[in-house]
Amino acid sequence: MIGLGNNDALTRKRANQDYIKFWEEEAHKLYWFEKWTKTLEWNPPFAKWFVNGKINASYNALDVTVQKSPQKAAILWEGENGGTRTLTYDELLNYVCKVANSLKSLGVKKGDRVTIYMPMIPELVVSLLACARIGAVHTVIFSGFSSQSVRDRVYDSKSKIIITADGGFRRGAIVELKRVIDEAVSDFDFVENVVVYVHAKIPITLGKKDRIWNDLVNNASEYCEPEKLDSTHPLYILYTSGTTGKPKGVLHGTGGYLVHLYSTFKWIFDIKGSDIYFCTADIGWVTGHSYIVYGPLMHGVTQVMYEGALVFPTPLRIWDLIERYKVTILYTTPTALRMFMKYGDESPNSKNLSSLRLLGTVGEPINPKVWEWYFKVIGKMNCPIVDTWWQTETGGIMISPVPGLETISLKPGSATRPLPGINIGIVDEHGNDLPPETKGYLVVKNLWPGMLISLWADDEKYKTVYWSKYKGMYYSGDFAIKDKDGYFWMLGRADDVLKVAGHRLGTAEIESGFVSHKSVAEAAVCGIPHEVKGESIIVFLVLKEGVTSSKQLEDELIQHIRNLVGPIATPDQLYIVSKLPKTRSGKIMRRLLKAVANNENIGDVSTLEDEAAVDEVNTAFNDLRKTIHRN
Ligand code: ATP
Ligand code: MG
Repeated sequence: MIGLGNNDALTRKRANQDYIKFWEEEAHKLYWFEKWTKTLEWNPPFAKWFVNGKINASYNALDVTVQKSPQKAAILWEGENGGTRTLTYDELLNYVCKVANSLKSLGVKKGDRVTIYMPMIPELVVSLLACARIGAVHTVIFSGFSSQSVRDRVYDSKSKIIITADGGFRRGAIVELKRVIDEAVSDFDFVENVVVYVHAKIPITLGKKDRIWNDLVNNASEYCEPEKLDSTHPLYILYTSGTTGKPKGVLHGTGGYLVHLYSTFKWIFDIKGSDIYFCTADIGWVTGHSYIVYGPLMHGVTQVMYEGALVFPTPLRIWDLIERYKVTILYTTPTALRMFMKYGDESPNSKNLSSLRLLGTVGEPINPKVWEWYFKVIGKMNCPIVDTWWQTETGGIMISPVPGLETISLKPGSATRPLPGINIGIVDEHGNDLPPETKGYLVVKNLWPGMLISLWADDEKYKTVYWSKYKGMYYSGDFAIKDKDGYFWMLGRADDVLKVAGHRLGTAEIESGFVSHKSVAEAAVCGIPHEVKGESIIVFLVLKEGVTSSKQLEDELIQHIRNLVGPIATPDQLYIVSKLPKTRSGKIMRRLLKAVANNENIGDVSTLEDEAAVDEVNTAFNDLRKTIHRN
């Protein structure tokens, strides 16, 4: 049993009795200018939480703590070049007010969209909160995106203002953000101004619409009254990672979203006033919105914010940050962990990581082997791991251990059980509940406060994507299994499920099998049609540093998967590559492998991290095509 000694059975009991009443009680923990008159209004498939309640996200994130402990550090920032900054809650509020007033001076009004395209610097957090303060809808675009991706998203959201920086630092290089913005939006008449924060101090071209951040902000007045916004007022638009296709503009409201984050952050991270929290996600993704900006700040947390690559200039970087800042909670991704593992144990072992007390992961299924490494090498077997399942659409975590509430035994590779108030099911094609230990589709059966309010300017798509497969249940698009103890195991995306000789296999099952081999760093599988078996399995592997590929190793790997998962999982083709196609959020893009393997159009790849990976996959597949033709 691993947990931190809390045993609050009452919370689950209350949630089971009446989940709407339960969330209503949770909502009282936030600051509302006016209380709601109705907790939940359900006009399928559109939900409104805390109807007529008046709230402000920046007030809950800043003013609430400033009134109690203004001098507490909110952000301990470190740049890739080693520069540091500390911002207290008081300073952060002051800064947010000035930026909010600056946006007002540019004519930004409640409901206007503001695109934010910035490196991981405090001004990014400030920009989000400044929008929230005045009721503008922020839409953050990850700063690694190219001009075409930025263009598509700005066009979709019709942002009036863009906030950017001259440049940012990433892996020792400078990313020229302002130049990307110039390319992306200069012919959009609806964009009225581009605000540029000078960070990298590189030459930039200034046009008629451009405003320098400091010129605006330094003269702005120091206090900005928070807008008293409807609970259902849109807080932001955020485009999904685009792992399965074209990114969707997920729209989140304010009151329900904040309630979900307030409660989940407390339960899952068991947060204490003395904690130093470090989430390695980029604010360009939902993890950053929910668990760097809104969740932690509402709890008055002190957190580390890091600008650059976690293994730059050496793999020691992340461990060094943890040692120096005495980080107590680390929240990262399986992709990052596999990368750290690939470099070996020496780096983490050479640093003092004893301040850590809790570890978390998000974004992909965590392979049990990686979980064990995280637990032993990083957590020294003293830190529980919270494997948190959720989506951009869910707004906040849905399935996870809750050390802040209860003692629970962990199983490596399982996100454990749904949170109190969250009702998750595994169903078949027709929406019927499946018995334990049966693979199926993951659905959410009750509404939850963090849920998306729609897709931006596309209610129809919102209905079709999430609410048309099953009546009255939210379709997640994930494939999973619930075991006899009620623990959930994510098996991969529903669209990627392989059907081999009458068996359905999730990609994660086979991939984790390969990753459990000592020579394998990463694995991706996909299927191609096979006349007899239905589908045959193709696997791409990246080996650990220093391991070389050989026929003997390939045979050993095939034998390994046969022993572990069964002969059914035997791949027909196995390729060793140096990198896999991944989204910029770090997830493996299996649909791309599948498309290439099936000789189909590869579709939207704007969210791809590294184009070179496509070439490598294409080369491998050209070989594959030759083999298929020979057969
Ligand atoms: P798109 O919807 O555009 O294809 P995406 O689904 O990758 O992009 P996100 O919302 O960032 O965009 O990711 C959510 C998905 O990530 C989930 O549906 C799930 O497949 C995966 N995921 C997140 N956390 C976990 C976890 N702890 N275990 C397993 N899978 C996870
Ligand atoms: Mg998704």
